[in-house]
Amino acid sequence: MTRNGDILIIGAGIGGIQASHLLSKAGHQVHLVEKTAHIGGTSIKFEDVFPNLECATCMLSPLEQELLQDPNVHLLTLTEVAGLEGGPGDFTVRLRQRARYVNLENCIGCGACYDACPVSAINEFEEGLSQRKAICIPCAGTLPNVPRIDKEVCIRFKGQECVACQQACMFEAVEYGQEDRDIELKVGAVLVAVGSGTMDVRELPHLSYGVHPGVFTSLELERLNASNGPTEGKIQLRDGRAPNRVALVHCVGRRERTLCSGVCCRYLLKFRHYLRHKLPCAEVLEFHGDLCLPNKGDQRFLGEMAPDGEGLVRAEVVRIEVEGDYLKVIHRRDGREAIETVDMVVLSPALTPPKGATELARTLGVALADDGFFVVNGVASSRPGILILGGASGPKDIRETVVEALAAAGGACKAVMEGEDGK
Ligand SMILES: Cc1cc2nc3c(=O)[nH]c(=O)nc-3n(C[C@H](O)[C@H](O)[C@H](O)COP(=O)(O)OP(=O)(O)OC[C@H]3O[C@@H](n4cnc5c(N)ncnc54)[C@H](O)[C@@H]3O)c2cc1C
Ligand code: SF4
Ligand code: SF4
Repeated sequence: MTRNGDILIIGAGIGGIQASHLLSKAGHQVHLVEKTAHIGGTSIKFEDVFPNLECATCMLSPLEQELLQDPNVHLLTLTEVAGLEGGPGDFTVRLRQRARYVNLENCIGCGACYDACPVSAINEFEEGLSQRKAICIPCAGTLPNVPRIDKEVCIRFKGQECVACQQACMFEAVEYGQEDRDIELKVGAVLVAVGSGTMDVRELPHLSYGVHPGVFTSLELERLNASNGPTEGKIQLRDGRAPNRVALVHCVGRRERTLCSGVCCRYLLKFRHYLRHKLPCAEVLEFHGDLCLPNKGDQRFLGEMAPDGEGLVRAEVVRIEVEGDYLKVIHRRDGREAIETVDMVVLSPALTPPKGATELARTLGVALADDGFFVVNGVASSRPGILILGGASGPKDIRETVVEALAAAGGACKAVMEGEDGK
């Protein structure tokens, strides 16, 4: 049998990007498939990352730039896997790529087309905290720096005569005639790097998310703090006021999902750094249960972010009630109910299996566990030649994801060399 050395990687977050670099450097042709129009995954939403409070953009941007220029990496955005047959060394993959309606070669990313577009829609990348146009990139700095037209909201695709974006483009990059296309590839191994999702906190109505504008999720706070985010880095309430007293709530949905998300304790400590830096006068209360600080250095991080336990409240939040402009955090502390009044609450929702995991598992013929994450033995899936890494198999931090990318890249090389018979 002729063994194919090409590798398919599904998901272009930090895990998929790192695995692409490793396999490209080992001489493999990589086909990196990403379902959104941009690369970087969840981590590009952060300003800084624990444990060292390193600037996320400074860490990710050079990796992303290198990837876009790597001749061994064939990036397919707006693409998902539609079918897979074969085995290690000899898989046939069918992909479905949605049209971008903008020519990747011609576009220089000047943004003139967004200004011209008359449509305003909710920006999902910004967690609904701002509006976007029908032709847009999600936020400044996302790569590739080429917009796409969202067919669902574009009035032209709803039958109206709009050509505003095409007229605004001096580079003839807007192409309304582009069509979705099917692609078939031969690869020797498959890496699944589709990350995790987050629980919809509306499932827990006692926490008043969506009822009071002062209640935020952790990803919303990441975007408020991000210099390329909807407030250009100002941490503020939805009406623009600065909060004076902030409650950070750990373990939201932990009991319901019977899962510790592993990263929330550390990113909530990171949020203290954000708040201290941006709002030095604001008081921060952190409602927590058992703290999950598994790595060397985490205890030091806790000491730096909460010296002498400052602001740490070991208590279970029972419910959050609205009182005018304020929020009452009703919690059980030392066997008794107590109340703290704040003007901003940040919830840390449980990490969940990635959206679409069930369909993807069916398409790839791999097993999911009862909790909905991909089943793994190390980084091996239930099907030979398919490796799983990062958040797809359960909550992970970036360091763990990068380590698994290394392991999965090694597994892919082995699968290509050994083929179906494992020899
Ligand atoms: C609020 C918050 C703060 C955090 N802060 C930190 C921190 O400071 N430090 C830290 O170490 N960790 C942090 N984490 C954890 C960190 O986000 C993860 O470790 C990391 O994102 C995992 O990377 P990944 O590549 O596995 O997945 P992701 O970054 O989620 O990337 C997955 C990619 O796969 C794509 N995809 C999904 N499904 C498909 C499909 N079917 N087909 C094709 N593509 C698909 C997605 O669009 C995405 O681009 C935080 C997490 C949260 C929620
Ligand atoms: S499509 Fe044209 S106008 Fe829009 S960003 Fe690209 S080059 Fe600029
Ligand atoms: S055709 Fe009109 S509505 Fe559609 S993206 Fe272009 S400017 Fe916006």
